[in-house]
Amino acid sequence: MYEFLERLGIREHNPGGCCGVNEWMGEGDTIASVNPASGKAIATVGLVSEREYDTIVSAAQAAFHTWRMVPGPVRGTIVRDIGLRLEERKEDLARLVTLEMGKILEEARGEVQEAIDMAAFASGLSRQLYGKTMTSERPEHRLYEQWHPLGPVGIITAFNFPVAVWSWNALVATTCGDSTVWKPSSKVPLCAIAVQRIVNEVLAEHGWGRGVACLACGTGQTAGTWIARDGRIPLVSATGSVAMGRRVSETVAGRLGRTILELGGNNAVIVSKSADLDQAVPAIVFGAVGTAGQRCTSIRRLIVHESVRDTLVARLVKAYSSLTIGDPLDPKTRMGPLIDTDAVSKMQMALESVRDQGGTVLYGGKRRGETFVDPAIVEVPGNVPVVAEETFAPILYVMAYEDFDEALWLHNDVPQGLSSSLFSTDLREVETFLSHKGSDCGIANVNVSTSGAEIGAAFGGEKETGGGREAGSDAWKAYMRRQSVTTNWGTGMPLSQGIDFSY
Ligand code: NAD
Repeated sequence: MYEFLERLGIREHNPGGCCGVNEWMGEGDTIASVNPASGKAIATVGLVSEREYDTIVSAAQAAFHTWRMVPGPVRGTIVRDIGLRLEERKEDLARLVTLEMGKILEEARGEVQEAIDMAAFASGLSRQLYGKTMTSERPEHRLYEQWHPLGPVGIITAFNFPVAVWSWNALVATTCGDSTVWKPSSKVPLCAIAVQRIVNEVLAEHGWGRGVACLACGTGQTAGTWIARDGRIPLVSATGSVAMGRRVSETVAGRLGRTILELGGNNAVIVSKSADLDQAVPAIVFGAVGTAGQRCTSIRRLIVHESVRDTLVARLVKAYSSLTIGDPLDPKTRMGPLIDTDAVSKMQMALESVRDQGGTVLYGGKRRGETFVDPAIVEVPGNVPVVAEETFAPILYVMAYEDFDEALWLHNDVPQGLSSSLFSTDLREVETFLSHKGSDCGIANVNVSTSGAEIGAAFGGEKETGGGREAGSDAWKAYMRRQSVTTNWGTGMPLSQGIDFSY
């Protein structure tokens, strides 16, 4: 057992359910959390049974009734303190993210930093949560909108950002006066347990022992499905694959609940003939290889003007061949393992399919050991079927274009719509890319990679990516309920639309 695990409160066996500082549970199946780099178990986790799940949601429901009455800025102070505690534990938590998920330490530190930043953002937000005031059409009337806490929020998260995605949702929801029930990916339950311990600690210091922030480790079929079906949970925020989002949204819609869906991407970079390749090359390498191609915003497709195609590909191949692949805890490593052998098999299958569909592997793609691979660069004739799917692995598909309209068409001609980017120094191309006929994604960047978003803006995507928005800007509104209010402060009773109902 690493010392940092002990400091984070991780034991050899860990209950995976929690609804209060001293209320841990996990009488369901026992699963092992596996280090993807070594294939060895780090620790075991007891998943929650349906009975325990019920206890957890009941606690969240009860806590909501008192938590929502705490003034927003006071809630914000507690969220601020969660951020400060995360900052104190940043290094330990980052090491756990690397150990359990496999991303390199530098990126894991960035992930924990994102959660710290979210706490600061949400804390500031706690003094806002503002509504609008409109002019009323009636004399001596006031018309405005206000925002109220919504209820317990279900948060289902993917394996690839085991801390950050929780923070985008939970820290905002908590600030908004909601209680939360978090179901993390069962590939990374220890990160969730460590975060839950930190949050418990801070809540308890502020006198909040039970129900405000809950954890329900389970599989998609158990805890995930229970959350989706549960009428006590008015909002389910689900991050993961398109297939999962489809199932969750159908189930939640069946009970007329709300969802925030953050699903798969198929992100492209267009590199035009005017691009500054000194900017484009490092941005593409980070975007395609960072987190071993396991970011929702990873660059999957490179749409390059034919005049710069050969130069760019040669520079990318050179950069790829200089990357150190291996132990993600080693500071020299730039790419760690894939999450599991299944992810490696999916990558190998995609590479086989693309060969059948007219693709040529220009670099990499080999398996190294159980979960390590060489990142691949593959030339393709366009968005052939395998390219139109999201393969969650470091494969960069390269396609050439002649004119900019063709590049835009190739760019948008996939079912997903998360993140996009253009490298160009041509103002007309840039503005076209950002116009109505340009990128159809939720995120559109210029001379910046598709991955590595800041928290200040709302994060999310269109089409099969699900349409949800999280993190910054006004994404908080999804975690609250809007109420339109009209107050008549006069003595008459005028009706709207000038209706005369005199009798
Ligand atoms: P996944 O869909 O396998 O699992 C995501 C979560 O959903 C897990 O907690 C899982 O247990 C749960 N789940 C699975 N089936 C379920 C069901 N039927 N009902 C309820 N819950 C269910 O995804 P993953 O492999 O963990 O993550 C990779 C995927 O997530 C990629 O597609 C990636 O693009 C996407 N992702 C998207 C974003 C975003 O913000 N758009 C962020 C991170 C990851």
